[in-house]
Amino acid sequence: MNRLTSTLFLAPALMGVSLMTQAQTPDAEPDAPIAIAIHGGAGTISKGDFPEEMERDLRNMLEKAVRAGYQVLQDEGSSLDAVTLAVTLLEDSPYFNAGKGAVFNAEGNNELDASIMEGAGLEAGAVSAVHNIRNPILLARKVMTDSVHVMLMGEGAEQFARDKGITFEDDAYFFTEYRWQQLQKARAADDGQTTFLSETPDRWFSTVGAVALDSAGNLAAATSTGGMTNKRWGRVGDSSIIGAGTYADNRSCAVSATGHGEYFIRATVARDICARVQFTGMRLEQAADEVINQQLVKMGGSGGIIAVDPAGNIALTFNTPGMYRASIDSVGRVTVAIYREE
Ligand code: ASP
Repeated sequence: MNRLTSTLFLAPALMGVSLMTQAQTPDAEPDAPIAIAIHGGAGTISKGDFPEEMERDLRNMLEKAVRAGYQVLQDEGSSLDAVTLAVTLLEDSPYFNAGKGAVFNAEGNNELDASIMEGAGLEAGAVSAVHNIRNPILLARKVMTDSVHVMLMGEGAEQFARDKGITFEDDAYFFTEYRWQQLQKARAADDGQTTFLSETPDRWFSTVGAVALDSAGNLAAATSTGGMTNKRWGRVGDSSIIGAGTYADNRSCAVSATGHGEYFIRATVARDICARVQFTGMRLEQAADEVINQQLVKMGGSGGIIAVDPAGNIALTFNTPGMYRASIDSVGRVTVAIYREE
């Protein structure tokens, strides 16, 4: 039943008419909230840093992805399907650091990390350091549904992908001039150690992620990334680590993170936010604020998160000047934003 029909269905009860058989069916319950949020990375970016046309494209892309995910929820699809679809669309865009638009590592390759989790049964799947996978989030989901494992990495994950008929693309598909130039900049600034994107003038993480609450009350979270520019090969960030970059538990919240992964891993950011909500009864926004704006800042980590709880409350929290983000909340309000103030 969609939201409109369920409202109509409730109408007799609202008018004081007693309809016992209808009132006893689960369908007669008030509309269950649905909500979705997505991100396309957090970082240092100011208005005017890129051409107007590109900014418009970015916003359109965010809106398209969040609306697509929301449609799944409106059609009574699962939060897992909603986050999978939203992340897949962002992976297919050249603008974000995931799938097609992934950054290059120090060897000049694209090495991809992704993870997904659902909050009802705490099932999760993740892939790390995989190559040539068009949509790493689909592979992570396959690990969750079709294997007895939670995380597969490198060649083993790629073999599993072939076995499961996952789509591969050649290197040319993942080449974008913009990301290549970012690598050259990072190389030029390299002090002999690996210089990450966060330490170059181009301080921007553009990992993608989604969190959602479906009408059955289930939460899900998904995150996908190319990692950080000029990372050592084999480096794994937070995005594929359950509890760091991704977490979902119906008893607390669903979280997807973006930022300097080394900090997010050590702060177990996603799980920490959920644990605060679950064990202290703290509001989602406060928990996110404590972890991102206090805990992480103290450690020196930059980035942000998106999160949603079982009531449909959404947190879009970041300690950087901006975060590509979009959401549709439980009353259907659409937000698309990049900068802190807008
Ligand atoms: N968190 C990602 C990583 O460290 C980077 C990002 O968010 O863009 O791999």
